[in-house]
Amino acid sequence: MKRTIRDLKNIEGKRILLRCDFNVPLDNYGDILDATRIISAMPTISYLLKRKAKLIVCSHLGRPNGYDKYLSLFPVAVFLMKYFPNKVKFCPKVVGPEVTAAVEKLGDGEILVLENLRFKKGEEENDAEFVAQLSALADIYVDDAFGVTHRKHASNYGVALKMPSAIGFLIEKELKVFDKAFQSTQHPFVAIFGGAKVADKLKLINNVMDKADAIIIGGGMAYTFLQAQGKNIGNSIVSLDQIDEAKKVLETAKEKGIEILLPVDHIAYIKEKDKAVKTVALEKGMAGFDIGPKTIALFTEKIMKAKQIVWNGPLGKYEDARFKKGTMKIAKAVAKSGAYSIVGGGDSVSAVNASGVAEKINHLSTGGGASLKLMEGKILPAIEVIDTL
Ligand code: ADP
Ligand code: MG
Repeated sequence: MKRTIRDLKNIEGKRILLRCDFNVPLDNYGDILDATRIISAMPTISYLLKRKAKLIVCSHLGRPNGYDKYLSLFPVAVFLMKYFPNKVKFCPKVVGPEVTAAVEKLGDGEILVLENLRFKKGEEENDAEFVAQLSALADIYVDDAFGVTHRKHASNYGVALKMPSAIGFLIEKELKVFDKAFQSTQHPFVAIFGGAKVADKLKLINNVMDKADAIIIGGGMAYTFLQAQGKNIGNSIVSLDQIDEAKKVLETAKEKGIEILLPVDHIAYIKEKDKAVKTVALEKGMAGFDIGPKTIALFTEKIMKAKQIVWNGPLGKYEDARFKKGTMKIAKAVAKSGAYSIVGGGDSVSAVNASGVAEKINHLSTGGGASLKLMEGKILPAIEVIDTL
């Protein structure tokens, strides 16, 4: 069990370095377009403030190459100032004498927001000198930036090795949800996979092989499986180097008695005519861009019987209105099924948000790459280095 902030006692007056994920979209005027990530960090921040810690809050924002005024964390600090009046200060530096001086002046129950960690090259390189400078600022380290836990950066992996550490409420929740899903699986357990990166997704499929009763495969990756079965896939996307792996998955599933459901019809795109057609057979010149109505019915029937569902990867090119129906219908089925449901992955989560049923999904994993690693059953490096109880 990882130590959480609940396990930290007597933190009044202690300097806590809190790593958040404030990687929010900004416009050119510095206005925050979506503050979800800041708002989701509030429970951890409030908890630590109430206990009168001195909070030094740090985060990355975007992918700057050195200092970039459009990627300053100042707008985030301003946002926090509105929530915690007179308690928030901003330092326009990441480390160095100005930061050290600002930390010295910080009162109990106050927040100091540091500048964008990625303005320093040492952050992503986990540079020892940068780690030393960051860790000198605080007595305790708290990580609540789930989205970067699959990375070994200075502000998460590096500093955690230097001082007592704990996870915040956001990471605690992500870990609990995935533990629940993979330790005490409820049956029927249905896993749904889609998207386009077959090699990555095969790892996820292998991780559910021991637990799933049925595996639904749609989206771009389905065509590699259909090809492996010797079916005609027209001009659909295919990973020829993964055909053997796909065959292995199909064989293993058969041995273990796991049902694999693949598309039986398609909404195909005919490039030559820039036209979308409904079809069972994918002729030459046709690329399957979405699952067809028979497939939607087949998948929905299975989903409705599920008690637990994990889902990664859209079932079609959902960004194009002509090919989003499959993904939207499946999102609605998952919501309606009443099964305990987890959706992970950047595109998958935005598709579910667009479907209007996000509230009925038990857990939308915010991490993108980090969520996928958890689904693969991997240990995330930045979490591994946090103190255990
Ligand atoms: P996530 O971000 O949730 O892990 P992925 O990035 O793996 O999901 O998959 C999303 C991408 O897969 C989208 O860009 C989507 O357009 C693409 N995709 C889904 N189905 C198809 C298809 N049939 N053909 C081509 N691309 C597809
Ligand atoms: Mg994606």
